[in-house]
Amino acid sequence: MSSWLGWCHWEQAVPSNALEEFGRRWWILLFSCRTYPKIPAVSSEELISFLCSQQIQFADDMQEFTKFPTKTGRRSLSRSISQSSTDSYSSAASYTDSSDDEVSPREKQQTNSKGSSNFCVKNIKQAEFGRREIEIAEQDMSALISLRKRAQGEKPLAGAKIVGCTHITAQTAVLIETLCALGAQCRWSACNIYSTQNEVAAALAEAGVAVFAWKGESEDDFWWCIDRCVNVDGWQANMILDDGGDLTHWVYKKYPSVFKKIRGIVEESVTGVHRLYQLSKAGKLCVPAMNVNDSVTKQKFDNLYCCRESILDGLKRTTDVMFGGKQVVVCGYGEVGKGCCAALKALGAIVYVTEIDPICALQACMDGFRVVKLSEVIRQVDVVITCTGNKNVVTREHLDRMKNSCIVCNMGHSNTEIDVTSLRMPELTWERVRSQVDHVIWPDGKRVVLLAEGRLLNLSCSTVPTFVLSITATTQALALIELYNAPEGRYKQDVYLLPKKMDEYVASLHLPSFDAHLTELTDDQAKYLGLNKNGPFKPNYYR
Ligand code: NAD
Repeated sequence: MSSWLGWCHWEQAVPSNALEEFGRRWWILLFSCRTYPKIPAVSSEELISFLCSQQIQFADDMQEFTKFPTKTGRRSLSRSISQSSTDSYSSAASYTDSSDDEVSPREKQQTNSKGSSNFCVKNIKQAEFGRREIEIAEQDMSALISLRKRAQGEKPLAGAKIVGCTHITAQTAVLIETLCALGAQCRWSACNIYSTQNEVAAALAEAGVAVFAWKGESEDDFWWCIDRCVNVDGWQANMILDDGGDLTHWVYKKYPSVFKKIRGIVEESVTGVHRLYQLSKAGKLCVPAMNVNDSVTKQKFDNLYCCRESILDGLKRTTDVMFGGKQVVVCGYGEVGKGCCAALKALGAIVYVTEIDPICALQACMDGFRVVKLSEVIRQVDVVITCTGNKNVVTREHLDRMKNSCIVCNMGHSNTEIDVTSLRMPELTWERVRSQVDHVIWPDGKRVVLLAEGRLLNLSCSTVPTFVLSITATTQALALIELYNAPEGRYKQDVYLLPKKMDEYVASLHLPSFDAHLTELTDDQAKYLGLNKNGPFKPNYYR
């Protein structure tokens, strides 16, 4: 009954035969339970153990790990200029309730089963649950596991003391454990006060990683956790893995002498990369840094493929909208826009595109989309999605002209694309109908459905595929290996991009998941194209 009451908020959008529809759904549910009576009897433990028993086979890649930077095989890297994409984010909220225990983890005395208390997490007792989450993530991170297996004997990170500050999720746990398997010692804190999966942090602590993080940290806790990772008697970091630049900033501010031992910084996010370039420009960067944010594999997967997968997820979770036959306008036909349009088209939506750039506009035409001005279609569309990275793309005038129940959301980095401020006026009523879903109601009763208050829809309202995070994590691991093993002088105190060949290696590690078979150049073909048979196959500027 409660779901029906929930539906009533949607009276403007609910069809007149909704009651009939409700009855039909109920019947289908009853039917399903009768037809598959055993479904509820399967416990989550059984399901997880079944999933874990389905071993993934790692096919051999064409290239050997040892061809890539290690202590024995080294290549020089070129510096190139970066362009930014998006901040990184967490893929999943914790399944455990952060409010289950009001005592701050800082006040608790906890030890893992080996008697170590070198960590601070919400509840170490959740470790077993967290371990299962990590095992599930591993299933779709086969490239990282394959890297782990291949380089385990060689231990390219032996002696590395990595201090990390990233989201602490099942996927990053796979990365952290890979770094440990490759010989590193790790101390870790969270780069976001809300994104930690408590059970995963507990599993890491149980496995011996010095992790200081929990979901719902205060600002003070956040810096305290970072400090506990850096300021340790008898342990000094020699590598930094950062996501957002806060850890790097803290070390600069509080412990600048630590940089004497640091061999390099690997930075994941656009914000952190931006800070590094600023430091470099001011001549204040005192160690080499690797910008993994702008590697091609990360950009393509984060922007194009990730958005292609998550746009529908975000819209469905928040609105239960059906896409077939719906008219949708996508503002911006860059990587994100292309991903959104492809997904929407595949579900039968009628998609319009707005663009300022004639090349992207022409691409949209070639892909079969009508390129229009927003004002031309604003009265008729059912959904408006912005992905321009620009500001004021959807203005109050557009919002005024939208039809009843029009859904408005943003996939771009900042919340400036939709002029949300113009909606916070006394004549408009805001009604929060679900988490991250607001109905903005005009005096005549018209409702516009605003998602995540104009912030990134997919990051606010859905999850990000593990596979995407696998690409990023593999890139981070390789960047750390490269910086840690680089001979003196290869890298100066500057910001570097991952070389194309390493980008290609990250991609090649992910190919076995699809049983994809690469064609090898013949000697004659390689000569003809002027390429090395083992790559790189494209110039550094190729995106
Ligand atoms: P992009 O530069 O490839 O594409 C943006 C497009 O918008 C360009 O083609 C540009 O010409 C067009 N544009 C600019 N102003 C416009 C306007 N007023 N009207 C219509 N079109 C306009 O960038 P991208 O990689 O597609 O990223 C777009 C945004 O999404 C950025 O803010 C980026 O940080 C963000 N992003 C989001 C995610 C996510 O998961 N949601 C992932 C990656 C990037």
